[in-house]
Amino acid sequence: MRLILLGPPGAGKGTLATLLKEKFDIVHISTGDIFREEMKSDSELGREVKGYVEGGELVPDSVVTQLIENKLKKDPSVEKGFLLDGFPRTTVQAEDLDGMLDKIGEPVDRVVYMETSLPVIIQRLTGRRICRDCDAIYHITNKPAKTSDQCDVCNGGLYQRADDNEETIKTRMDVYLKNTKPIIEYYQAQGKLINIDANQDTNVSLDFLINNLNEDAKSN
Ligand code: AMP
Repeated sequence: MRLILLGPPGAGKGTLATLLKEKFDIVHISTGDIFREEMKSDSELGREVKGYVEGGELVPDSVVTQLIENKLKKDPSVEKGFLLDGFPRTTVQAEDLDGMLDKIGEPVDRVVYMETSLPVIIQRLTGRRICRDCDAIYHITNKPAKTSDQCDVCNGGLYQRADDNEETIKTRMDVYLKNTKPIIEYYQAQGKLINIDANQDTNVSLDFLINNLNEDAKSN
């Protein structure tokens, strides 16, 4: 199965992706996670993208598309299927992705659009905390860790993303509305969109999505 998760920052793409990955045993590819890893290791790519990521601006299309192309070509585990989280984010990226997948005859099956309201986004992002070691996602009130600054899974330290502050969240929302929202129509026109109310709990979204995907499987 080849899926894309689309939605504003704070829609819960990462949380839903973690559950879907377990359920369907497919590879989770998050461009944001890859960039943060590269920044942590202070690689050339990490240094190149740092200013964009921390400022909430988009990394140039050519850099992101090249990254995804390499991943899809070089990682044999993607043959089982994949879940793209945070890519594509512009119409150019969506067209490039279609081009790449058409070449290998493995088009995207479904695009999940996680619609979310602004107050929910701000509440989720300002309270989000991440484990430095295993990337597990917490929230200070919605999903607190047992010890406030330590991961329940691996005891790693929790941190707040540099771009999860109100000012940068506003930039990210503007960037999303201008660049990423138009992709919804692009996939709608392909008949691939599944709409989810992502204001609700992620487990409710997961059940809804699984029902939709099961219906697809029956009709194929
Ligand atoms: P995310 O973790 O998905 O919220 O992404 C964090 C940041 O990484 C974004 O605000 C961008 O700066 C950058 N980024 C991630 N994916 C992309 C993409 N597909 N295109 C451009 N920039 C991206």
